Amino acid sequence: MSSDKSVKHLQRIALALKIERSILAEEMAPCNFCLRSKRRCIAASASASRCSECIRHGRSSCDFQQKLPTMSDWASIDRQRKKLRDERKETMAKLMRLSKMEEALDEREQKMVELGVSTLEELDAKEAEERARTARLEQSAANLGEASPFLDDFILDPEALSGLPESFWNGMASAEPSSPGPPGFLTGTVGPGPDSSSFA
Ligand SMILES: [Zn+2]
Ligand SMILES: [Zn+2]
Repeated sequence: MSSDKSVKHLQRIALALKIERSILAEEMAPCNFCLRSKRRCIAASASASRCSECIRHGRSSCDFQQKLPTMSDWASIDRQRKKLRDERKETMAKLMRLSKMEEALDEREQKMVELGVSTLEELDAKEAEERARTARLEQSAANLGEASPFLDDFILDPEALSGLPESFWNGMASAEPSSPGPPGFLTGTVGPGPDSSSFA
């Protein structure tokens, strides 16, 4: 080996090492030389002309480029990846729906136990009954609200109205919105209801 040759040899090794240590270097599908010599085929970039092993061994031709996926291969991979992502999104959404349904079912089961019913149909009926009752309560509360602005605070708590004497309700029936209110209502002669402290 002439000294000129050995310098070139060292330069090739240095270049090969530089490529292999570069953070931009990529491992490729092995060129025929790397395949035969069972080495990792590393190139500075996908557009490099030779891999580091071919450079190290002074081989003038390296075919790693030919083993690279073609543009249509890339496109196909991109399409497949997009399809997988879409599928994953759909699956996640479905999982969310399923866990919500499961939660709802758990809640209904809990309610069945609370209300002492044994089928979902019975529960439906009970719940419909409940809703109708609530609607009626809301309606009568609304009616009371119209009848007297004084009662606004009590609408949230219908219990507060129980225990009021019959005369109070009679007074309500005839009260005009502009009238000062039923007798006894503001003068403290009304008997103590469960929430009479709020009258003060
Ligand atoms: Zn190679
Ligand atoms: Zn090569």
